[in-house]
Amino acid sequence: MNDKDIKKKMKPHFFNNYKKFYPVEALCSLGFSRSVCKRCGSGFWSVHQRDFCDEPACSGGYRFINQNVAKKIGYKEAWDIYVDFFKKWKYTPLDRYPVVCRWYDKLYFVTAGINDFQPYVVSGEVPPPDDAVLEPQFCLRFPDTDSVGITGRHYTGFIMVGQHVFNTPKKFIYFKEEGITQIHEFLTKGLGIPSEELFFQEEVWAGGGNFGPCVEFFSRGLELGNQVYIQYQFSPDGDYKELSTKVIDMGAGLERWSWFTQGTPMSYDTVFPKVMRHLYQKTEIVPDKVLWNKFARYAGLLNVEEIDDVSTTWNAVAKQVGVEPFTLKAEVYKVRALYALADHTRTLLVAIHDGALPSNVGGGYNLRNLLRRCWSLIEEYELDVELEQLFKIHITEFGDWFTELRDYGSLFDILEIEKKRYNETIRKGRELVKRMVQRKEKLDIDKLVKLYDSQGITPNILKEFDPSIVIPDDFYFRVQMLHEKSEQKREISGHDIERIPKTKLLFRKEPDSKEFGAKVLHRITPTKIVLDQTLFYPTSGGQAHDMGTIDGVRVLDVIKDNGVVIHVVEKPIKKDQVHGIIDGERRKILSEHHTATHIINYAARKVLGDHIWQAGAEKTLEKARLDITHYKSLSFEQIQEIEQVANDVVMEDVPILIKEMPRNEAESKYGMRIYQGGAVPGKILRIVAIGKYDVEACGGTYVKSTSQVGPIIITNSERIQDGVVRLEYVSGKRAMEEIQRQASILRELSDLWGVSTDDISKTANKFFKEWKEFKKEIARLKEELAKSREKNLFNNPKWVSDNPRIRVISENLQGADPEELRKVASHLIEKNPDTVVILGTSDSNRAYICDASGNDAIGLGIYANSIVKEMCKEIGGSGGGTSQLAQGGGPDVEKLDQSLNKGLKMIKKQLR
Ligand SMILES: [Zn+2]
Ligand SMILES: [Zn+2]
Repeated sequence: MNDKDIKKKMKPHFFNNYKKFYPVEALCSLGFSRSVCKRCGSGFWSVHQRDFCDEPACSGGYRFINQNVAKKIGYKEAWDIYVDFFKKWKYTPLDRYPVVCRWYDKLYFVTAGINDFQPYVVSGEVPPPDDAVLEPQFCLRFPDTDSVGITGRHYTGFIMVGQHVFNTPKKFIYFKEEGITQIHEFLTKGLGIPSEELFFQEEVWAGGGNFGPCVEFFSRGLELGNQVYIQYQFSPDGDYKELSTKVIDMGAGLERWSWFTQGTPMSYDTVFPKVMRHLYQKTEIVPDKVLWNKFARYAGLLNVEEIDDVSTTWNAVAKQVGVEPFTLKAEVYKVRALYALADHTRTLLVAIHDGALPSNVGGGYNLRNLLRRCWSLIEEYELDVELEQLFKIHITEFGDWFTELRDYGSLFDILEIEKKRYNETIRKGRELVKRMVQRKEKLDIDKLVKLYDSQGITPNILKEFDPSIVIPDDFYFRVQMLHEKSEQKREISGHDIERIPKTKLLFRKEPDSKEFGAKVLHRITPTKIVLDQTLFYPTSGGQAHDMGTIDGVRVLDVIKDNGVVIHVVEKPIKKDQVHGIIDGERRKILSEHHTATHIINYAARKVLGDHIWQAGAEKTLEKARLDITHYKSLSFEQIQEIEQVANDVVMEDVPILIKEMPRNEAESKYGMRIYQGGAVPGKILRIVAIGKYDVEACGGTYVKSTSQVGPIIITNSERIQDGVVRLEYVSGKRAMEEIQRQASILRELSDLWGVSTDDISKTANKFFKEWKEFKKEIARLKEELAKSREKNLFNNPKWVSDNPRIRVISENLQGADPEELRKVASHLIEKNPDTVVILGTSDSNRAYICDASGNDAIGLGIYANSIVKEMCKEIGGSGGGTSQLAQGGGPDVEKLDQSLNKGLKMIKKQLR
């Protein structure tokens, strides 16, 4: 059952048993009583009895615009007050987590505060950073792109204020009753909202199979937050059970708090006032205050994700505002462009800072969309705005709070390259659209979305050519829906591995041992065996598996599944006590390559910038590769620099330290950089540190210190996909082999050319120059040859008819190619209209024929195409062309002369 179905199923159950599921006691003692909304049927709590709940659709929109409901509070100020307020209940404020969600493989980006603690804290496997915490978590939500700047409350990037409490079976902290009491106190005393202005609404939350009741709190039509009680787990049989760890997961959009207290028409003006001021100044757009004040009240209804019929809603809103829908939309969309620019650039700033790159795949696709939408809005509204300038203002304005953003790395390089790519896409797009419009192709909404998705054709390019095209209001939402990340499913092994005890991994504790004794625990098949312990490293983390023997039988493959190591052996092993020996040479090379990979990762980051993350890696016996996140191909100089930095680390002889650490401790000590290879399961992480250079959570095998890696040579680098560059390299023994291979190539060249190795490059240059000269010379000679051939042929016709006079030239031009035949034949008839030419040539497999008829000959019924057709039959092939010039060929090379005779005969017959 998916989350939506769980919600649907549980809502009536919670509604009917609200006393059991919601914090009824606390709400009653705070003076609230329960009602059922006469419009939507939900249960809600308020001080005074009401007919309708406070959802904008039920209560008539936002009723805080231009009102003084609470004391005016700034954006960051609201967070400070919140932290200050919750101190007395012993909540610990945390720093934000990166927005790129490396620790949780179900998500590219953090979309809610709870993601910070998924999956291991929520599941109870890993202890939380503290019992009760608060976080200002920057979250990304791309499906809301269309609503940004219209509803007043939507953002593609926003701060979700978190309140998280973790109750374990051993330790109870706070749950529903305490949680709602604390929030009530903060709302009334912290933000200064009168209790009579608050509504608490009963809802159901579900996520990833867990679910529980939640209470949304509203004031004057605006949802100010949602307190979720993660309490139950759904089982596949349709039943549910109580979770042992119970979590309060409160999330609130910080953007809304300052907006609510200030009562501006839209929240954006209170969230990034400096950026908005710059935009108003540069564009000279002045929002129509009277209209916006009226519109803002109903703006919340225009959330494209929630309404089915957007245009009906626009009409209804326009009616309330008292203007024509067309006028309203024009004004709103114009100012919306500015709000969207401010929002999108902030989102991009944080995402790129945290290690994401615009590209055409995965999460990077969303970033590129957002960036392109910015340029597209600037063009559509002809705004005098420079994107770089907006980024710079965010860096000072938002960076005043999140100071790490001041260190923006390669941001402006990335923007520049993305702009070039965008311009190129637009140029190609314009041509394509022009052709489509000329062909009068029909464009429906699906087609528009696909054109954008596959060709990058933005709606306004289409509008340039065909103004009648209607762009749907939820355009970007539709695009987004094409790219929902599908849930990663765990590979299901064909056998019942769950019941076998996990294998003891000896290679962890004894990395230098080569031999071991073990007991056979299980035979999945006669040649797939599981031992109680093993020294064989299974293929994992991009490192190839060990090889060797078990009781003298060759080990072909080693696989790990759910903690169990499976050895694939060449033939059945009967004994239950076995002796294993691993191939030490192979292990050594793999360990060198794995260690080199961590070093290269550090070196690439040092040379190219902090946006470098591992996107993939493989360590085999032959070579190793590391895919890194980077926005363009590497130059030769950059590759050499990376190689240099890597070899510096090698020569420094830095020891490689491996230790096991609790997840929390590792994260707080080393940061999220440890997740280079993606999410790592478990509460204890194996941390591999190469001095201060590189620290990663990784399970591979390594050498003892960097000098044992030996020289590292980068053998190849290419851009394998948008935003990903591949580096291939060898180290240790393989590097020596590579050096010797390169030396022997140089040696061979120097012998061959008779120059010293130092002069090879100079000599190669000289040869290349000469070769170019030769090529020119050959082309010139060919020209000459053709001319003299023509002259010769013309002077020696095979036959000349006397009345009328037609000159027939027929020749087997040995050594010429078909192209030459065509040139010679057409030249001859151009100059001499009284000429017929039949030429042939051949190589070892095929004979070629070319015929040409001058205009006088055509007048006498001698058609080149019909002659070629007959002649080609002779050589077992076919041909065709015009009456003036025709070509063909066939496989019977030895019959070429016979075929030429046949042509001559046909002409003679025609002219007699
Ligand atoms: Zn309602
Ligand atoms: Zn590794």
